[in-house]
Amino acid sequence: MRSYKVIIIGSGFGGQCAAINLLKQGITDFIILERRDFIGGTWCQNNYPGAAVDVQSPLYSLSFEPYPWTQMYAGRAELEQYTNLVIDKYQLRERIKTCCNVVSLEWCEQQSVWEIHVEGRGLYRAQFIINASGPLSTPVIPNFKGKEKFEGKSFHTNDWDLDYDYSDKKVAIIGSGASAAQVIPEIAPDVDHLYVFQRSPHWVLPRPDWVFTDFQRKLLALKWVHKVVRTSIYWVLEARIIGFKYSRWVLNYIAGDKAKAFIRKQINDPQLQQQVTPDFTIGCKRVILSSALYPAYCRDNVSLFSKGQGIKEITKTSICTEDDRDIKPDLIIYATGYDATDGVISYPVLGKNKKSLGDFWRDYPRAYLGTTIPDFPNLFIVTGPNTGIGHTSAIFVIESQMLYIIKCINSTLKGGYKSIEVRADAEENYTRMIHAEMKKTVWETGGCNSWYKSKSGKVIAMFPGFSFSYRWLARRFKKNHHIFT
Ligand SMILES: Cc1cc2nc3c(=O)[nH]c(=O)nc-3n(C[C@H](O)[C@H](O)[C@H](O)COP(=O)(O)OP(=O)(O)OC[C@H]3O[C@@H](n4cnc5c(N)ncnc54)[C@H](O)[C@@H]3O)c2cc1C
Repeated sequence: MRSYKVIIIGSGFGGQCAAINLLKQGITDFIILERRDFIGGTWCQNNYPGAAVDVQSPLYSLSFEPYPWTQMYAGRAELEQYTNLVIDKYQLRERIKTCCNVVSLEWCEQQSVWEIHVEGRGLYRAQFIINASGPLSTPVIPNFKGKEKFEGKSFHTNDWDLDYDYSDKKVAIIGSGASAAQVIPEIAPDVDHLYVFQRSPHWVLPRPDWVFTDFQRKLLALKWVHKVVRTSIYWVLEARIIGFKYSRWVLNYIAGDKAKAFIRKQINDPQLQQQVTPDFTIGCKRVILSSALYPAYCRDNVSLFSKGQGIKEITKTSICTEDDRDIKPDLIIYATGYDATDGVISYPVLGKNKKSLGDFWRDYPRAYLGTTIPDFPNLFIVTGPNTGIGHTSAIFVIESQMLYIIKCINSTLKGGYKSIEVRADAEENYTRMIHAEMKKTVWETGGCNSWYKSKSGKVIAMFPGFSFSYRWLARRFKKNHHIFT
């Protein structure tokens, strides 16, 4: 049996950041288990046309790894390059074991270790587990009636088939969220016809992208310039929380009115204008940044299907709509997202006294600082419940979580203990505070049904406040909130 001090699950930015932080503490007895046959997470997996980040790249990057980005919102290929640069710089490649799909975790009380079951590879053991399996890494395809009968080509945006040539084909795309909004403008000029099935429209704002000059790129690679640019972007984005949480007037004034004007500016057809206008408050769902989506909807070879025209059934050759139309696509693209809430950990986890995480999360997923759970010692969840941030970079939160995780691990090891576990009352109080604060946010009150909510109806993907508040909480390690054994 292979035993380690720490096992990290997942090799995306969460796993990389955890590994780098362990190395900085002098902890070298660890490996990273990755289920895919390649490493790197989100930006190495999502190779659909148009894939790009929607947070400015100097902020959507590790704070300690500046990079001479070619444009403000980096495309997938550049993010993949950046990922590989980080992996190589910290020599993580040799620590990552690919094709290692973790299928269950079990806490072994007697030895105070976790047993990790890896599909086809047997058992691993570790004192600590850092689960960085990603909030948006397991794609979901809704159960459309008859979908398995379709004989044409179909795939999820997360599993794009690069060998399939979609040019001059009839293509249906199901979903109109963030990934669809990137795919649609990119493929529309090449396909014969594009049928877009939207359940409900999203608010869209222009994407203020620009390409950096060579001189600007040289400057960006300097640590202090990177810090100044990053900090400026951070504070501009942080101000959005004022609208999301504290003032609906500010939200409508700075974003809502702008989004409505943007529809009128880019679309002339009143019927299409109506089809793309959401009936919920801006910010309730993730706002899409795209200057190319509405022009794509205006193309002659693009048809938008909305309320009342949804999918009734998929057959061998067709998509039958609720208004009895029969669409015959060659390709169906599922841009239907991920299970980011109830599926935050997709495999069974048994803690102390064989307590099941699935049972503890039956009502809704919850964790202290979105990271630790009572009765699950030495287990840390990166991007766990209520750590999502719609207004800024997810990497900022990941780095904040590391402050807490490293303090937990260090306090355990330096104190000569075997395990650390959050107290039940501390988790309870934290979770109560989170959901009381959530009541003030547009995510809960904005009148939409979004992937931020779990089946319970509670918003469990988002942190209800400023990201600096989260960092402040994560930085202040409260020993008395924990049990050491
Ligand atoms: C298309 C897309 C666009 C996005 N755009 C933005 C954006 O603009 N801004 C932003 O802040 N965030 C964005 N995100 C969110 C993104 O997930 C985070 O920014 C960040 O990349 C999360 O890193 P991670 O390491 O937690 O997860 P991931 O990068 O998803 O990495 C998780 C890794 O864990 C592996 N894994 C999962 N389960 C197992 C298992 N059982 N066993 C072993 N390995 C496993 C996966 O294969 C994957 O490699 C986007 C996500 C997607 C999918």
